[in-house]
Amino acid sequence: MERLPTKCALAIRNISVQNKLCVLCGDYAETSEHIFVACQFAQMIWQNIADWCKVPPIFAFELNDVLTLHETCSGSSTKKKVIHAVILVTIWSLWKLRNESVFRHSLPHTTKILDEIKAMAYLWVKNRAKTVSLTWEDWSRFNFLA
Ligand SMILES: [Zn+2]
Repeated sequence: MERLPTKCALAIRNISVQNKLCVLCGDYAETSEHIFVACQFAQMIWQNIADWCKVPPIFAFELNDVLTLHETCSGSSTKKKVIHAVILVTIWSLWKLRNESVFRHSLPHTTKILDEIKAMAYLWVKNRAKTVSLTWEDWSRFNFLA
């Protein structure tokens, strides 16, 4: 809903920003749609997530496409819930990475963010799911669903 304080959202609220360019790619205006979906960095992350989760390549045109992806993927309701959790963690991680890049000037690192997403999503799922027998080995290969 454009409530996140992206550079474009801040500019609309009359807050001065030095430039409106996305800090992850440097090529396009920073909106939430861009950070989470259109940015080439985000697209690379989504492709890696799709590969890891063994789902077809993710072609998203707006944020809602990734937020509703679990509804259309095949498999059990457990798989859909897990995919949704992974997607929420990925969006959260992209926003954190964006903030680190804006405020700490750190360079975005694909492998690092993917490792963080897998670790955080593992903790979420392991602590919230009724099946607690999930091992890190199975999780890291996404090899635990019937
Ligand atoms: Zn970008």
